[in-house]
Amino acid sequence: LAIVSIALFLILFIAFDVEREVLTKENIVEPMRDIRRALLEADVSLPVVRRFIQAVSDQAVGTGVIRGVRPDQQLVKIVRDELVKLMGGEVSELLFSNTKPTVILLAGLQGVGKTTVSAKLALYLKKLGKSCMLIAGDVYRPAAIDQLVILGEQVGVPVYAAGTDIKPAEIARQGLAEARKKNVDLVIMDTAGRLQARLIDKAMMDELKEVKKVLNPTEVLLVVDAMTGQEAAALVTTFNVEIGITGAILTKLDGDSRGGAALSVKEVSGKPIKLVGRGERMEDLEPFYPDRMAGRILGMGDVLSFVEKAQEVMQQEDAEELQKKIMSAKFDFNDFLKQTRTVAQMGSMSRVIGMIPGMAKVTPAQIREAEKSLQLMESMIEVMTPEEREKPELLAESPERRKRVAKESGKTEQQVSQLVAQLFQMRVRMKNLMGVMEGGSLPTLSN
Ligand code: GDP
Repeated sequence: LAIVSIALFLILFIAFDVEREVLTKENIVEPMRDIRRALLEADVSLPVVRRFIQAVSDQAVGTGVIRGVRPDQQLVKIVRDELVKLMGGEVSELLFSNTKPTVILLAGLQGVGKTTVSAKLALYLKKLGKSCMLIAGDVYRPAAIDQLVILGEQVGVPVYAAGTDIKPAEIARQGLAEARKKNVDLVIMDTAGRLQARLIDKAMMDELKEVKKVLNPTEVLLVVDAMTGQEAAALVTTFNVEIGITGAILTKLDGDSRGGAALSVKEVSGKPIKLVGRGERMEDLEPFYPDRMAGRILGMGDVLSFVEKAQEVMQQEDAEELQKKIMSAKFDFNDFLKQTRTVAQMGSMSRVIGMIPGMAKVTPAQIREAEKSLQLMESMIEVMTPEEREKPELLAESPERRKRVAKESGKTEQQVSQLVAQLFQMRVRMKNLMGVMEGGSLPTLSN
């Protein structure tokens, strides 16, 4: 029965964490340090981290903590929400121009996946019912042109290529004319990149500017490798100041990187990430979801889903209603069932217990035992009449009723008796928990 008490206590604990805590300057210091570390480990640029932490700390102080959740867990949730907001909140759709063709210009360093993304994007748009054409503009890497031609064939999209002995702006002009002739909805132009951020030279930027002038693109998307790390902020700033970007595509998110570059992009340029690449296959391009990204950057998915579930499950009125019942010792089998299901909804009991302060010492064996007990109890409560559920006294007073419940649920009479006793014991325990000292004696079962 001690084990069962743990389970019940757990339920009680989640139902009404008696004091409502508030985030303070003091209690966020430690967790903020963890969050700062998480952001840096995710490769968010340092100045971005500093500004972010400052802003969130100011905002968090004074916020109430959800019942059953620890302040540090609540803080992670606030940080996550802020990250989501900072990264644009919602999915940012690609823009289309009113006149055909819509032009998308891709820019970025070498090796980030620009050529691959060009073809992926063409396929992505084709699936949306748009006709596309690709322009191969990476004149410094003949292999890139061949690669795009091959990928174009693979995704069934025409590629305009004019070799390497020609200026990118001229290719752009010819390509655009071809696209108009073909009457396609969209043109995507791949461009040359340099090896590293610090090698972005003036010549390359000038070329890009010229291409941009010729194309008058609706979208100028900077392709950024998710592993770029700390350099992302400087990189994005340079491209945005020099040519003006409308957004970014984050590639190689299938790798180990936690993708802090995503945060830097939006923070320094104000421009959204629109799409992400998640692999080498042509199908591996998806819209960018700020909420998923925030979870990934923080690397605290467990805490986040716990807090969210607690929030969902813990309807304030429910909790208050229950509290009233308990104060007047009216807690019945309906409430019992509701609480059991609350725990079930929140995930496995072991996870829930792990999240509750002071509950970490419960062993896995004890948890398994408690889970079994709760299941057993549920099956008995399920066969009770509505009256019996509401008035447990009926069962306490009538051996016949207990016998019937035992029979219908396939349990022993002893088990039913134990359950009834347990409920009354819980009422006492709850009263103690609430600091209500009146009453508290256990009714004895009549035989
Ligand atoms: P570019 O120099 O920017 O045009 O880069 P490429 O398109 O040639 O890509 C460089 C390498 O990165 C190639 O081997 C691609 O297959 C690979 N690549 C591109 N995007 C992704 C991605 O989202 N995930 C993974 N794992 N590899 C990618």
